[in-house]
Amino acid sequence: MKKFIVSFVVGLIVVAFVGTPLEAQEKARHKVLVSVDMEGIWGIVYGDQTSPDGRDYGAARKWMAEDANAVVEGLFEAGATEVVVNDSHGGMRNILASDLDPRATLISGTPKPFSMMEGLDRDCGAVLLVGYHARAGSAPAILDHTISGATMRAIRVNGRELPELGLNGALAGAFDVPVVMLSGDDETCAQAKSILGNELVTVAVKNAVGRTAARLLPRAEALKLLKQGAKDAYLKRNGVAPFKLNPPYTFELDFHNSAQAEIPLLIRGVKRTAPRSVAFSADDYVEGFKLMRALIALASS
Ligand SMILES: [Zn+2]
Repeated sequence: MKKFIVSFVVGLIVVAFVGTPLEAQEKARHKVLVSVDMEGIWGIVYGDQTSPDGRDYGAARKWMAEDANAVVEGLFEAGATEVVVNDSHGGMRNILASDLDPRATLISGTPKPFSMMEGLDRDCGAVLLVGYHARAGSAPAILDHTISGATMRAIRVNGRELPELGLNGALAGAFDVPVVMLSGDDETCAQAKSILGNELVTVAVKNAVGRTAARLLPRAEALKLLKQGAKDAYLKRNGVAPFKLNPPYTFELDFHNSAQAEIPLLIRGVKRTAPRSVAFSADDYVEGFKLMRALIALASS
């Protein structure tokens, strides 16, 4: 009898879930999140363009808003009804609020629980990563690093080294949300396809010549491709699989030196795996992602 009741209840749940009209599911997942980093923005090739006290920062933050706006325009043209843009670089106050397409909502400032992915939730139907860069140790690639250039040498999850696009893509995956588009330099686009899959739309706005030199697309061409890429990506979003890793999630963090591992090791569950490396395991990716961020902040302090 107990068995019968259990299977009856399970049956009800299955019917309730499968029976939800697709339309209603679609309506619930109406939001599009655009995470905008800076190193992969058109025109940017050097560190001081991405820091508020650097030369040309004023121009670079305008280019960042323009790249974002081209994507926002493509999304609305394709039928999106709500677009949230999350400023994802450094202090996360790079895009001047008044420079953003007024149809989009801006998340500005830091810290934020999900950092580069703030705004992500179960209402999202798609994520787009704009202005992203390659993982630490890539070449040629503009300003390659992973989360913190001063602290991190590499981050692996379940044995696989991931750039920010992979770490963030897996966070989206934990909410069953696919990453549908990425823009950055050519190397970042290649890394994104190999990790997130071939269905991903990529837009290379520049070809890296070295770490601090690139051949840029003509400006108008870059904006046209960003807009078209966002449009294509939005229209095919339901055919793109979310990027999912398998639990339990083992995070391994390689710092640049052994001193950076010392404070993270004070946290319960964090173990030293090498003089400058620590590791921990999490059953829930979201919890693992948050602990990873906290450890990097501790190592950087
Ligand atoms: Zn950045």
